[in-house]
Amino acid sequence: MVHSFDVLIIGSGAAGLSAALRLAEHGKTVGLICKGSLQESSTLYAQGGIAAVFDSEDSIEAHIQDTLIAGAGLCDEKAVRFTVENGRNAVEWLIDRGVKFTQEQDAQGEWRYHLNLEGGHSHRRILHTDDETGRSVSTTLVELARKTSKIQIFENHIAIDLIKKDGACVGCYSLDEDRHQVVIFKAQAVLLATGGASRVYLYSTNPRVSSGDGIAMGYRGGCRVKDLEFNQFHPTCFYHPEARSFLLSEALRGEGAILRLPDGSRFMQKFHPLAELAPRDIVARAIDHEMKRLGIDCVYLDISHQPKALILQHFPNIYQNLLKFGFDLTTDRVPVVPAAHYTCGGLVVDEHARTDVPGLYAAGEVTCTGLHGANRMASNSLLECLVYAKAAVQDILCQWKESATEFEIAAWDDRYVEDSEEEILVTQNWDELRRFMWNYVGIVRSNKRLQRASDRIKLLKHEVQEYYAHFRVSRDLLELRNLILIAELVVNAATARHESVGLHFSLDYLPVST
Ligand SMILES: Cc1cc2nc3c(=O)[nH]c(=O)nc-3n(C[C@H](O)[C@H](O)[C@H](O)COP(=O)(O)OP(=O)(O)OC[C@H]3O[C@@H](n4cnc5c(N)ncnc54)[C@H](O)[C@@H]3O)c2cc1C
Repeated sequence: MVHSFDVLIIGSGAAGLSAALRLAEHGKTVGLICKGSLQESSTLYAQGGIAAVFDSEDSIEAHIQDTLIAGAGLCDEKAVRFTVENGRNAVEWLIDRGVKFTQEQDAQGEWRYHLNLEGGHSHRRILHTDDETGRSVSTTLVELARKTSKIQIFENHIAIDLIKKDGACVGCYSLDEDRHQVVIFKAQAVLLATGGASRVYLYSTNPRVSSGDGIAMGYRGGCRVKDLEFNQFHPTCFYHPEARSFLLSEALRGEGAILRLPDGSRFMQKFHPLAELAPRDIVARAIDHEMKRLGIDCVYLDISHQPKALILQHFPNIYQNLLKFGFDLTTDRVPVVPAAHYTCGGLVVDEHARTDVPGLYAAGEVTCTGLHGANRMASNSLLECLVYAKAAVQDILCQWKESATEFEIAAWDDRYVEDSEEEILVTQNWDELRRFMWNYVGIVRSNKRLQRASDRIKLLKHEVQEYYAHFRVSRDLLELRNLILIAELVVNAATARHESVGLHFSLDYLPVST
């Protein structure tokens, strides 16, 4: 089966949905495909908010400087300036589409947006909808997309690989999970908006969709990748076999929560004068160090010494969520582990969101725009999604040629493959890959650990390629194939960087100050 559109968008997070709506507003037909439901994405789970200059005391220059400092000297200043300068406009577009950001009344009784302050920002500039900003953005855009006739939505469709003609991207093959068949999507321009790759690690705050598919597809299709050694880890993700991607906000430590080892002792004071209030990457490294030193599965976050009323007032959602898993935040210490949170690197794009392949655009966490450098500043990522989605749309409209999709594409050839009899290879390799990536390529690396990971990746790659060549594709197999490539790219990037900088920390290249 062949589906034909003006533009194909792969991914329905902030980047994909905003691009689809903008294109539809300009009369283009859009095929929007996503792996699961339309809403399942990292965007849905974003809590903090979106950074943009709205306060009269704040300035574009201050936002730029803060971003450059967070990026540890490796940001592309042009990309930072471009993103920040277009930030307010991107947020206003969301407001015009109906996103309700939290407001407050000032001393004169005027309503204005309530701006939060987050780590790395020198001013209050985070617009938010309580502590569920992602849900509010996603719900608003999903509702609009469902009502827009120019957008045709394909849920449970997993893009497999890009299709190129005369060097340009003209579509993709995609597994329709409901019908168990591979279909063709054909378009004049394709936008990859598939999110990050944090699921390459055993513990991640991201939903399952974040398996780096877009980065892998783009790389196989001829795009460059950059900065993949910089993966951000959140220090405190709830550790429970049935809890999915549940963050315990840094605000808990801000209100006095203490990190403890299983015997109840504190440890953060050994690592930083600010103890539990040290920067995010230092806390994550300290927890990782103690877990590896003691061979333990988790550490504990304890705020039970604070008054019950304070806990309930500040953390009602976290309190309720933990209760479902049998933990009372007001009396219990809660098991936590650091978890992979954000992929700073990705497909290289320019200011028009163009990749190296003509006709192929990318926006959001799948990209490396140069905004984040070696470390992402909080709440800059949703902003990047919106700004680069708009840039892609503008360029697609500028380059438009009528009737460009009238050509044939070869059907998916599955004559020589059969149904798999042993899915165990896929599940075994999934577990193995994510575990050794966590242990050897996680928060603290060394040349020896990277080499061990590289050796194992070669074995897995070989096994999975064999399997891919002989058996019918499934979601698990496609994701595993992509994750193995991501792992290889991350290890290569980490091995090539002979310094500890930003989020890349190697025992063989310790920073001068340690
Ligand atoms: C818990 C959490 C909290 C966060 N908090 C914040 C915050 O406060 N502020 C902030 O700025 N950022 C935050 N982030 C980061 C931010 O949410 C993400 O960077 C951003 O939402 C990514 O958006 P995206 O559109 O690039 O991708 P996503 O929102 O991840 O969407 C990816 C889409 O691609 C689809 N997809 C993937 N692979 C395929 C495939 N092969 N075929 C078809 N479809 C595919 C998925 O189905 C999904 O629809 C947070 C992230 C998490 C996980």
